[in-house]
Amino acid sequence: MPRRPASASKSAPPLGVDVARIRDLVREMLVALGEDPDREGLARTPQRVAEALAFLTSGNRTNLERLINGAIFTQQTNSMVIVKNIEVYSLCEHHMLPFYGRCHIGYIPTGKVFGVSKLARLADMYARRLQLQERLTEQISQAVMETVGAAGVGVMIEARHLCMMMRGVEKQNSVMVTSSVLGAFRDSQATREEFLALIGQRAV
Ligand SMILES: [Zn+2]
Repeated sequence: MPRRPASASKSAPPLGVDVARIRDLVREMLVALGEDPDREGLARTPQRVAEALAFLTSGNRTNLERLINGAIFTQQTNSMVIVKNIEVYSLCEHHMLPFYGRCHIGYIPTGKVFGVSKLARLADMYARRLQLQERLTEQISQAVMETVGAAGVGVMIEARHLCMMMRGVEKQNSVMVTSSVLGAFRDSQATREEFLALIGQRAV
């Protein structure tokens, strides 16, 4: 099987994406899988896969401040804000296969709140990279906490992992649930219970 030298792409930035190199590697992978990369259906597959992977990892190259883009507003409330059922699609870093589900975010503002769509964009930013569900949950809660200086944050993600469903243990119905609580959500059981009640116990 032909191999190319590992040093082929010194030009790509540290977290950048060398789409041309990925395209070549996917073509080689198809050969290694016993496929004919020149047959009609596969002819443009390496380019498509490279572009898809670039998009699916684009969160690595997204700047949080630019993403929020000033959409933080002054609001004198300290009632809990909840955005639930945010769809998330990510790639597990162990198999590079998708995991997907719903993310629920709650926070208690101390004078600043997010614009309506920004929590979903923030979740996307952390989902579009090679991830662990646990880390994704933590990163979202930390980012919410720090961006608006919240008094507390709770994040719960319910997700299905294709690496479990299509291979391995082949458990099609298992849903992995992860949560991360910070500040008041960690300190106060009543706050946690309010959060859980507001997001409900909804299956994926
Ligand atoms: Zn996996």
